[in-house]
Amino acid sequence: MNSKIWLSSPHMGGTEEKYVKEAFDTNWIAPLGPNVTAFEEALEAYLKNNVHVACLSSGTAAIHLALIQLNVSNGDEVLCQSFTFCGTTNPIAYVGAKPVFVDSELDTWNMCPEQLEIAIKDRIEKGVKPKAIILVHLYGMPAKMDQILAISNKYNIPLIEDAAEALGSRYKDKECGTFGKFSILSFNGNKIITTSGGGALVTRTSEEKEKTIFYSTQARDKADHYQHSEIGYNYRMSNISAGIGRGQMEVLDKHIALRRRNNEFYKTIFKNIDGVTVLSEISSDYYSNHWLSCILFDPKVSKVTKDELFNALAKNNIESRPLWKPMHLQPINRSTLFYGKGNCEQLFNNGLCLPSGSNLTENDLERIEKTIRATFNA
Ligand SMILES: *Cc1c(COP(=O)(O)O)cnc(C)c1O
Repeated sequence: MNSKIWLSSPHMGGTEEKYVKEAFDTNWIAPLGPNVTAFEEALEAYLKNNVHVACLSSGTAAIHLALIQLNVSNGDEVLCQSFTFCGTTNPIAYVGAKPVFVDSELDTWNMCPEQLEIAIKDRIEKGVKPKAIILVHLYGMPAKMDQILAISNKYNIPLIEDAAEALGSRYKDKECGTFGKFSILSFNGNKIITTSGGGALVTRTSEEKEKTIFYSTQARDKADHYQHSEIGYNYRMSNISAGIGRGQMEVLDKHIALRRRNNEFYKTIFKNIDGVTVLSEISSDYYSNHWLSCILFDPKVSKVTKDELFNALAKNNIESRPLWKPMHLQPINRSTLFYGKGNCEQLFNNGLCLPSGSNLTENDLERIEKTIRATFNA
């Protein structure tokens, strides 16, 4: 049996162990320390736009702390892209609020600005003004930021930008992760860079960064004894994890180039296969890190079904994965509101993520290409 080709597996650059060893050598084995500070500085330098970064235990924790700082609480409504991973939406439940899901558009696969405005107008008409908008750059593809920000400003509803999958992506030359009132990143195992597990909250001001660190370290007041006047969380990133992150930052751009190469590789294969398209930037305003390369089947045209390709790849020990199942279709969200036309459901029914790691070898790519061509007889 050939070795397994993963969808997206960790890819170390080489210096990660040096920073982790430094943590051991100096006994900084704690949820703070020089690696945490240096990793935050590296992310701030990378993202530019005068942002501040607080490193946390996960991207999900970052969304939770963003909602708390926007005073979202019991009974409030939060507008959220339905087409995403549960890490985006679960924190809405953590604060006792209700998600109101918004459909995707078919070109970027991200939140549809038209449906967002329809949703806002309808909620306001019904007497409940949503407290926040959570937007996602899915699979690394930037969302239509000009339109979304215009709506966020027009109705004065703050934007939380979920850039968990989009570190290194840009919209009109501005870094994803710098558009929101708060933005979040994830460094989970299969993301563009990993710290084994981790995330970050990107803030506009240093005060918000300090507040984030305060909440992520049990909200301890200034006193010699342990005094608490607010509920806090144990969400700070460990100095060990941050050491891995520091090393990963040194290879981030190289790894993005490799993921973009993968996307070109798939575009070349599917160029002459009818009924299958590769998710691509719609104009030069968009620069995707192509965290995952995804394809969409037109079942009326394609000779092969999505499931047939999935099974053929699996038989050759190659991992692929259906697209995210929309959140408004999940059992946990059965009775929630949804504004849209079913675009994200259509994407879910007809799409597939293909192996996209920056560590795919020439040999891996050859095996993938052979399997796809054999399946389509192309
Ligand atoms: C991974 C991910 C998250 C959550 O990040 P974790 O670090 O795994 O908690 C949130 N949103 C999206 C879109 C993600 O892909």
